[in-house]
Amino acid sequence: MCGALRASDAGKKAVLMGWVNRRRDHGNLLFVDLRDRSGVTQVVINAERNAAIHEKSAALRNEYVIAVIGAVKLRDANTVNANMPTGEVELVAEELRILNESKLPPFLPSDTALTNEETRLKYRYIDLRRDVMQFNIELRHKVAKAIRDYLSAQEFFEIETPFMTRSTPEGARDYLVPSRVQPGTFYALPQSPQLFKQILMISGFDRYFQIVRCFRDEDLRADRQPEFTQIDLEMSYPQPERVWEVVEGFLTAAFAAAGVAIKTPFPRMDYDEAIRLYGIDKPDLRLPAFTDVRDCFSAENVQELAINANLPVIAIRTPKVGELSRKERDDIKPMFHAKGGAKIFEDFKRISNKFPEAAAAIAKKTGMAEDDLIVLIAGSVQSGAQAALPAQRKVTPQELAIYSSAGLLRLALAQKYADRHGIFKKSGDAAKDFRFLWVTNFPMFEWDEGDKRWNAAHHPFTSPHEEDMAKLESGVEALNDPLSPLSAVRALAYDVVLNGTELGSGSIRIHRQDVQSRIFRALGMTEEEARARFGFFLEALEYGTPPHGGIALGLDRIVMILAGAESLREVIPFPKTARAVDLMVDAPTPVGEAQLKELGIAIRRAKE
Ligand code: ASP
Repeated sequence: MCGALRASDAGKKAVLMGWVNRRRDHGNLLFVDLRDRSGVTQVVINAERNAAIHEKSAALRNEYVIAVIGAVKLRDANTVNANMPTGEVELVAEELRILNESKLPPFLPSDTALTNEETRLKYRYIDLRRDVMQFNIELRHKVAKAIRDYLSAQEFFEIETPFMTRSTPEGARDYLVPSRVQPGTFYALPQSPQLFKQILMISGFDRYFQIVRCFRDEDLRADRQPEFTQIDLEMSYPQPERVWEVVEGFLTAAFAAAGVAIKTPFPRMDYDEAIRLYGIDKPDLRLPAFTDVRDCFSAENVQELAINANLPVIAIRTPKVGELSRKERDDIKPMFHAKGGAKIFEDFKRISNKFPEAAAAIAKKTGMAEDDLIVLIAGSVQSGAQAALPAQRKVTPQELAIYSSAGLLRLALAQKYADRHGIFKKSGDAAKDFRFLWVTNFPMFEWDEGDKRWNAAHHPFTSPHEEDMAKLESGVEALNDPLSPLSAVRALAYDVVLNGTELGSGSIRIHRQDVQSRIFRALGMTEEEARARFGFFLEALEYGTPPHGGIALGLDRIVMILAGAESLREVIPFPKTARAVDLMVDAPTPVGEAQLKELGIAIRRAKE
């Protein structure tokens, strides 16, 4: 391999094959940097010594594929390149073969300046020759292998599940595949192998995993891919902690494969606590949590500030940011005035001038140090009385409005912190600050204000808490009430979060058919609808289903973080653009009439 030769190989004969990375013509001497995935070796072609190959070498251009037979020789001391692993030696060519020529590529793998991404994706085969991409794809392989090895050692079986199947609800649209044999019918590509892995538990394969492609037709945000890879697993009889232990185990192995040691077990936090402390269900633990400073203000203060005395007053402390400029303050203000009546006080100096006692108390309570920035968020007087809440629901909708506004603001301020300190970058040492977290006990249902109905917060196969079963039962009697007992049903669901990114979600599943039917009912499905969509599964649940649970983590995202890459496209060999297009093969494309006819499909175009 082109990256293999060392000083100890001097005197040996070697054969190298690869691409011409660069050539430097010094008249009688031609230097060729020969590259393959392992690295680069300098090849020397000496006209005086070997006129025949010198002539041949005149034809060499960048990205030609060649084979060289030669003698490994130590370089002169003054030409040793300490930055290259092969920098102490060179290969003196004795025989040269041009295996293939290359057109001049639109960009060179050795270019240091990156060309635009469209060109990179169109000529992905050239792009993938760059060492960063070679590194990322190798890392992806190593990470996947470490996970496979770990799970195999834990006696998980890797079992394949179908791609041509029925819809699996994970909250996105399905990609459909028309059937030719049964015109008018469609397979759906799986959004996840959810029902198959549960059926594998019913089938007796009590530990399953799969590193598997999933397909979701979503409105693509910058960091999504229509097809992506999950580390999907399921096991029989686990408590949530057992699933977490397995995940911590394979993440330790995966990060070790990238040379990063992580600490386990990861801290754990209830969903309600995450909302109260960070205003978001995937908190970034690298910056401080909120402090409720409501009690730092006197009754008069509260009146003068026109804030709601019954709601929390959140202090967001961002360390070492200093004061915000007038423009920065103006930038953040409008975003939050609109949100659920939250009121923002972005100028702490003004608060200190007006309410010195309150400000001193806030500084103390938040642990404010010199140069720390404090921004306050409170409820406005108009945000109304607190709604009465079903027991066990700890955060009221009004509080939630404040917490989530504060959560967004905290992230916006964290960005300022990052900008000013040049940290939170995805590369360099700061990128090695990995704060994992388990967020648990999510609500089972989410109220959809638009459609006036309940959705599953995770997916409909997630088990409610045993203690909340009664609420589920009474809740299904009042399906169109956002404050029905359903709002207080907690799920045995958990997310694993890293530095503010959700790496994966999972849950303990429903294993009782009656409970599963009730959940479908709560989601607004009639008995017939549930049977039509999930009849096979409801039936399977009746044949001795063991309690089971599992999780799925995004492999692409994990590799992206480990590679210090800015986008998933940097770690997926053949990704799609934000418009779900593969620029290299040019997909999707229209298909011919004949093929459509065979499938019984007619395309209807919207009228202009
Ligand atoms: N199927 C779920 C998902 O893809 C993960 C799980 O519950 O295991 O998000």
